[in-house]
Amino acid sequence: MMSEKIDELLPRIEAALARGGRSMDDLLILLATKTRTAQEIREAVELFEKRGVKVDVGENRQQEFAKHAELEDLHEAGVMRHYIGTIQSNKARDISRFADLVHSIDRESALTSIEKRAANDGKVQRVLIQVNTSGEESKGGYEPDLGVLREVAERCAESDSLALEGLMTIGTNTDDEVEIRRSLRQLRELRDGLGIEAVKELSMGMSNDLEIAIEEGATIVRVGSAVFGPRDYSH
Ligand SMILES: *Cc1c(COP(=O)(O)O)cnc(C)c1O
Repeated sequence: MMSEKIDELLPRIEAALARGGRSMDDLLILLATKTRTAQEIREAVELFEKRGVKVDVGENRQQEFAKHAELEDLHEAGVMRHYIGTIQSNKARDISRFADLVHSIDRESALTSIEKRAANDGKVQRVLIQVNTSGEESKGGYEPDLGVLREVAERCAESDSLALEGLMTIGTNTDDEVEIRRSLRQLRELRDGLGIEAVKELSMGMSNDLEIAIEEGATIVRVGSAVFGPRDYSH
């Protein structure tokens, strides 16, 4: 099941990369592991590994961190942990301890709380700034405005506890490919507009829009259902 899904997914990803003259080395596949068990996650990581593809894992919910303790051997072997969910200030400490890279710095209070926790732990927290390129109110993220992002980047540069490495977005939730592409392209244009060498990652693209995202320059795609199948939230 999962192995067939991965065999379907990889050629889609490789073809999209090739259209932009890129290869698998230019992209990180991040498994979005919310609702999945440790065993499913391990199986997926190993199936990718068998095909010569290194993946990382990304979690959304602080309540699900515990299952990753069972995967400590993978972490030690280099499968990095990412946090891609909403940051509640009172959970910032757990998030910072869990995550090698936090994608979802979406507002000032999230930035401050993660910075404070990283400083307390004597850690330099690698982060991405989440940008709301869709204009959808339900989505978090800073305004897609170069001035705003420049200020956040300066804040990070001045901090001893934060290392800003790129931008993240969730593409517009629609069937309109033109709009999806616009929202994803905007993230690349913002990164290019910032013109900061260390700020190079573009975390964008999920199961439904990953080809467009890769064509638009994604360096990290976050994939859940295309690997694990539909999510079941009932348990
Ligand atoms: C769940 C999730 C994904 C993956 O979504 P799929 O559609 O299952 O691929 C990507 N990014 C974020 C932030 C998510 O919460």
